[in-house]
Amino acid sequence: MSLKIYNTLTRKKEVFKPLYKKFVGMYVCGPTVYGDPHLGHARPAITFDIVFRYLNFLGYNVRYVRNITDAGHLENDGDSGEDKIVKKARLEQLEPMEIVELYSRKYHASIKKLNCLPPSIEPRATGHIIEQIEMIKGILKKGFAYEKNGSVYLDVSLYNQKYPYGKLSGRNIEDTLEGTRKLDSQQEKKNPIDFALWKKASKGHIMQWPSPWGNGFPGWHMECSAMSEKYLGKTFDIHGGGMDLIFPHHEAEIAQSNAFHNCEPAKYWMHNNMVTIEGQKMGKSLNNFINLDEFFSGEHDKLNQAYHPMTIRFFILQAHYRNPIDFSNEALQASEKGLKKLLDAYSNLRYLKANNTSTYCVEDLKNKCLSAINDDFNTPMVISHLFEGVKLINLMGSGEESLNSEDLDKIKSLFHTFLNIILGISNIDEKSKSNQTDNVMDIVLRIRDNAREKKDWGTADFIRDELNKIGIEIKDEKDKAVWKYK
Ligand code: ZN
Repeated sequence: MSLKIYNTLTRKKEVFKPLYKKFVGMYVCGPTVYGDPHLGHARPAITFDIVFRYLNFLGYNVRYVRNITDAGHLENDGDSGEDKIVKKARLEQLEPMEIVELYSRKYHASIKKLNCLPPSIEPRATGHIIEQIEMIKGILKKGFAYEKNGSVYLDVSLYNQKYPYGKLSGRNIEDTLEGTRKLDSQQEKKNPIDFALWKKASKGHIMQWPSPWGNGFPGWHMECSAMSEKYLGKTFDIHGGGMDLIFPHHEAEIAQSNAFHNCEPAKYWMHNNMVTIEGQKMGKSLNNFINLDEFFSGEHDKLNQAYHPMTIRFFILQAHYRNPIDFSNEALQASEKGLKKLLDAYSNLRYLKANNTSTYCVEDLKNKCLSAINDDFNTPMVISHLFEGVKLINLMGSGEESLNSEDLDKIKSLFHTFLNIILGISNIDEKSKSNQTDNVMDIVLRIRDNAREKKDWGTADFIRDELNKIGIEIKDEKDKAVWKYK
């Protein structure tokens, strides 16, 4: 049984053959850190966490590189507008690097709650300015780029004479030329479709570095080309990201690699589909922009309740990564129920006794799970097979099915492997630990309420102040006190 991956580049499922026997290099475009992490961040993180986990499970030594974009990412995802991080820094009156630190930490905390394993290397764009400048120098030397007024652009039509520009996105360069001609008013470029490798810094631009072309900052696409080469080599196995990055970002990365090294950066291109909320795109103006923390706490107008991070993870895995996902309270509540059923059955497994004979073939179920995950990481199919296991466990409980001790061990190991290791769904124990904190806090607040009723302000204040010291904030509302993490 071999793993098949849908390759965006060839538009078909291909048998996965890594460039080296035991080593797999994987690069995934990470977040631009200038705002709270939301569902749009959760999906690629979880999608490529599954790829990472499964390749590890298959015995590969995987180097998973996921970058943090902390510079040079302009507002309209092109060559103009304001740097998103600089804009946020100006609005919040912070240093750009304070913004980067703040939102990187928030991103890491949320993604950890979703049980995503950390990547092997998490490089930042600003830490690799030298590598980016070197690559731009190389592309200039090869003649595929030109300098104009302190900025450097890739000459797309010249490039297109040697390599097909648009092969990943399937765009026709002529159509793209038509589309961009009307939108772009910049005179600096030879052609509107040309993209910046380096941009001259305008007066007052905070994030800028010296270069052979004067002070400026790298173009958005340059960081991924420079950092993937540095950590994975000129060509590596898998390049991933959201499908919104196919054009222009990934197309530009391919062009940069070809222009400099005369080779493709990646063998397999994988793209996850997008997330909508109640059928609409996420957007601040639609009031459906829900941060991950808001999902976890339930504090958003659109949410009927709080959702455990495992519910969010399970919900995302119930769709194939190449299909769109639509979030709604109903859908999440259904996932919550399904997950509980799955985890309950898994936990009940330990109480089941082996019989002399098996009435069910566990090996078949294992093979079905394996062929589902091997079929381009078909997690919804794996989950539906696990539910077949749930049915078996429940029927064993009522004596309608039986397993011998060998098969009983096999089904335990099947659940552990697929649910915990490959899908990364953690056990009930961890889930109940957070419930345990809720229970303890209920008791503490009841003691404090009693003290307040007796006008024992000393005890009430002591509890409030001590909790405050460990990061828990108490708020006295009309009839009771509530708590939250600061
Ligand atoms: Zn990228």
